[in-house]
Amino acid sequence: MFRESPIMRWRNYSDRYRLTGYKCTNCGKTYFEKKGLCTCGNLDYAEMDFCGKGKIVSFTQVHSGPAVFSEQAPYCVGIIDLEEGARITSQIIDCKYDELKIGQEVEAVFRKFYKSGEKGIIHYGTKFRPKF
Ligand SMILES: [Zn+2]
Repeated sequence: MFRESPIMRWRNYSDRYRLTGYKCTNCGKTYFEKKGLCTCGNLDYAEMDFCGKGKIVSFTQVHSGPAVFSEQAPYCVGIIDLEEGARITSQIIDCKYDELKIGQEVEAVFRKFYKSGEKGIIHYGTKFRPKF
C-alpha cells in the first residue's frame, strides 16, 4: 500500500477522459473536489467539465515519490489554477524542471500514470504539459 500522493487524488471517473469538477450554483465558484460549504455559504453544486487550460501557481521536482511512479522520477509536480478558477495538483510532463516558471500556461493531456499487478495493467489519467 503506498501513501496517497497529490497525483493520486484524481478520482476514478466513469469517463476518465474528462476533467470534471463542481460549480457552486449560487456564486459560480469552481472546485476540483467536492466541498461542504462554498465560500459564499451555499451547499449546492453542479458538475461541470473543465476546459483543461490553466496556469502554474507553484511547482517542484520529485526525486523519490511513491513506488508506482519510481520509473518516472525525477518528475515535476505543480499546483495549477484552471481557467475556470479551480486549483489542482498534477504532474507536469514534457518539460524540464528548470524550464518551468510560475504563471506559465499549461494544458491537460491524457497519459500513462503507472503499471500495476503482475499483468502490468496500465492506468491512465490526466497530466499537464506546458504550452511553449
Ligand atoms: Zn458559492
